[in-house]
Parts: sequence; structure tokens; C-alpha cells
Amino acid sequence: MQRPVTRRYEDPLARIWILCAERIGFRIVRTSEAYASTDGRGTILIGEDSQLDADDSLAQMILHELCHALVEGDEGQRQTDWGLGYYTGANPWREQACLRLQAFVAGRFGLRQFLAPTTDFRESFWNQLPDDPFQAAPEHGGRREKSCIAARIGWQRALKPAWRDPMDTALAATARMAVLVRDGQSHSRHAGDEPLPSLWNVVQNQPPPHPGGLAPEWPESTGITCGTCAWFQAGRGRYRRCRRPQAGPVTDTGIACMLYEPAAELDCLTCGACCREAYDAVEVTGREAVVKLHPDLIVRGDTRLKLRREGSRCAALQGGHTATEPYACTIYPDRPKTCHEFTQGSAHCLEARQRVGLSL
Ligand code: SF4
Ligand code: SF4
Repeated sequence: MQRPVTRRYEDPLARIWILCAERIGFRIVRTSEAYASTDGRGTILIGEDSQLDADDSLAQMILHELCHALVEGDEGQRQTDWGLGYYTGANPWREQACLRLQAFVAGRFGLRQFLAPTTDFRESFWNQLPDDPFQAAPEHGGRREKSCIAARIGWQRALKPAWRDPMDTALAATARMAVLVRDGQSHSRHAGDEPLPSLWNVVQNQPPPHPGGLAPEWPESTGITCGTCAWFQAGRGRYRRCRRPQAGPVTDTGIACMLYEPAAELDCLTCGACCREAYDAVEVTGREAVVKLHPDLIVRGDTRLKLRREGSRCAALQGGHTATEPYACTIYPDRPKTCHEFTQGSAHCLEARQRVGLSL
């Protein structure tokens, strides 16, 4: 008599990541019709296991697509293939932004190699990423490079409750399982197995939590310390703190956390955040010199005068159209009191930089 089969074995990592996607609001459909695609209505289509490379997993594929969703935001999530139009070769920087974000979120759990992509970008881009994946080569604009900005904005989206808990739960479960499997591997093989070393061997231990409590530490070998971070504040005596909300104690010489932002790069000429998308308006009073000296830049708001905007930028702001072109305020000596009082390195400045993707 044939035994009735009433259960189906499922790959536990696949279960974890399908559930993660569902908790965020996506459906995963496996199909031989696509390698990886989306329908713009919440369905992520992923090829059958037989279509994946030997060193790939559904877990990685889902994480990669979720990173695309984070980079592209609500608008991209409503479009087929996240609106990327790869086949016209139009947007390589958007794929790069996805990969930077993927490297960062996986790296926080020691999974950067284990959950690495297996597309053509693996050799040409992913393997060249530095420890801090939000950083491009200086000649491409360094931390201002377009894909770095888009990736950081994606990270800000990942911090929203709808994303954060499902993603962290899936990554933590994957990391726990991965370390157990790595450390308990058997050497036996089934006939027909390819003689490749196991992917589980590349799993790393999760980086230790930073004393500040907000993110894991950078590897000590990077030599990056809190004392050179834009968010670090040294007061009188031994008073030291990280200005990020809910941060724990930090020291000047302590190794930095993964949210590190170099204070040396706080430079208004390469930033312009407070004069563009970070804020909607700069109000002025009728008594300020700018009203008489630059009437073409003044408009009347509902109740007060404001500086005119051009798109998302203050009309007085020039430059910054490429990652290496500096910004400039064309009315700097006559700028309104609000701009005059806005201090580089202040909490508002750091928040403005976060809003435009210059800071995590
Ligand atoms: S954000 Fe900067 S100051 Fe704060 S814990 Fe991280 S490295 Fe240290
Ligand atoms: S004050 Fe801060 S936010 Fe404004 S341009 Fe300068 S560095 Fe950027």
C-alpha cells in the first residue's frame, strides 16, 4: 500500500523570507516565466529553484527585491519591475543603490557574503564595495554619489515600523540559523552533488552591538571612532554623547557604529540640504534686507513672506546638479535671519542631511 503523503517539506529560509515579504505587504510567486520581476500590484515573481545558481537562495532573491522596493519607494512599488526599465539600460545607479542597501542590511547581521547577489553586478560592483557600502570613489562624488544617496533614503524607509520589524526578524532568524549550520556542517555528500564548498561557510558572526545601542560596530580594523563622527558631541569635562535619539554612552576613542558619518565631511558647499528638499520654506519678515535687495526672490505665503522656491530648492541656491558640483547661495551676504541662524553641525543640520540621503 502506498503511503499517503500529507505534508510537504519546505526550506526554512524560504519560509522565513516569504513570511517577511508578506508581513510587509508583498506576495511571492515562483514561476518559470521570470527570473525576478514585479507586477506593480504587490506581487514579486521569482524564478523556480532550478533557475537559480548553485550559490543563490530564495532568501537572497527576496531580500534583493525588498531592497529595490525600499530604494524605489511607493511610486516604484506601483510599477512593473519597480519602474526600472533595465532592458533599456537606463538606470544602473538604481540597481547599485539596491545593492548598497542590501550589503548594509545583510552586513549588520554578518550575512553580507551569504546573502550576496548572483547577477552580473556581483563581480563588477558588489565585490568592489567598501566596508561602508554607502560610499563611492571620490571621483564619483564619494558619499554624495547618486546611488549612495538613494540607498540611504531607502534605509530611512526601512526604519519605518511596517518594514523594520519584518526585516529585522527575518535577518536575525537567518543569522541564527546560518551560524548553527556553518558550525555544525557535515562533510558527507550525496551522489551527484557538485563538488563546490558550501555557501554556509561564508557566514560571518554578527558584528557586536555598539555601546551606543543603535547599530552594530564597524570592524575594529577600520579604525573609525565615534570621536570623528558628525553625531558625536563633546561637552565640558568628560561629557560625551551621541546626538542620535535614544543613543547610549559613547567615547571619543570607541570604535564607531555602522551609522557613522564623518564630521570632516560636514561641508555646506557639498551639502545644501537645508536649502533644498529637507525644508519646504524659509519665512522672512518685511524688515529684513533681503526683501528690498532681492524682491524677485520674495513671495507672499498664507500669512508671511517667504523665499521663492524652484521645484524643491530655494530659488537662491545654485549648483549641486552633479555629485561633484558645489552648491552656492547667491544671496549669502543678505540671507534671511533664519538661514543666518541655521548652524552647520546642529541637530537640525544633521536631520536635514538625513532627509536628503547624506546621512543614515
Ligand atoms: S552615530 Fe556616530 S557618535 Fe553615534 S554611536 Fe554611531 S559612530 Fe558613534
Ligand atoms: S548647514 Fe548643514 S544642512 Fe545646511 S548646507 Fe550646511 S551642512 Fe548642509
